Amino acid sequence: MGIRELGCNISNEFVKYVGQGNDTSFWNEPWCGDSSFRILFPRLYRLEQNKHAFVTDRIKWIDGSAIFCWKWTQEPKWRTNSELACLTTLISNFVPPGLSSDKWIWKLGNNGIFSSRSLNSTIDKLSVAARVPFKPTSLNNLIPQKIGIFIWRASKNKLPVRTELDKRGIDLHSTRCPVCDEDIKTLQHSLISCKIATEVWDSIRIWWKLDLLHINNISDIEKASNPALKQSMLASFWQAVVWVTSYYLWKNRNAHVFRNNPLCPPKIVADIQSKSFEWLNCRGKNFD
Ligand SMILES: [Zn+2]
Repeated sequence: MGIRELGCNISNEFVKYVGQGNDTSFWNEPWCGDSSFRILFPRLYRLEQNKHAFVTDRIKWIDGSAIFCWKWTQEPKWRTNSELACLTTLISNFVPPGLSSDKWIWKLGNNGIFSSRSLNSTIDKLSVAARVPFKPTSLNNLIPQKIGIFIWRASKNKLPVRTELDKRGIDLHSTRCPVCDEDIKTLQHSLISCKIATEVWDSIRIWWKLDLLHINNISDIEKASNPALKQSMLASFWQAVVWVTSYYLWKNRNAHVFRNNPLCPPKIVADIQSKSFEWLNCRGKNFD
């Protein structure tokens, strides 16, 4: 079985380590997180004057703080401005680069250096994981137990939506969603129909090249089946991704409501993608 059929694109397994930043494309290479900014922030990318700008062209780090030097064809507005807010938040959390030169790092190797040996061992692990039979009724064994338990609690309506609010002294008489203020706040709204959730699910759908998600209620999340994914291995991976997505939506939503953390859909999607790969790789090891 080839690595592509196992759902692993080899170019995704490299990350760019930024040293001086003068040999790393700001938009086209994944240097801050697992995806390039061109993918994460398509609207901003369209406004960039120089699509091949280097990291040093757009950011100067002075005393550990990032100073931005944007060059737009026109000032970002509306949605593009919220992309800009997410981008600056992401970069502000980035550790300032050292003085070494920029280089590519192979994520799956022990020392960051690509070798056919580490590639082969990754293929072996994914193949073994792929042979594990998919049982829709059991907890998907590709992902951490805490997420399986989260999904089980969600399906049994045992998530502490109201009690958590009550504990923190938030008025339970208000049924509006504290994130979008648009609809009544139910678990289904939080995980599926809230505007942040729809944005995240749509990115996941595009990532998996699916026409339709087939997720309309909580029991669809629990089953996480999609008729477009006929292979049992893909169906199993898809279930893992649906569960990880639901868990991250829940986690980020709570962090926003209770700790005022910013809600940034491209960042949530990037975390879902990197965590999915990390867990699939590490679960593969357990089958050795
Ligand atoms: Zn909402």
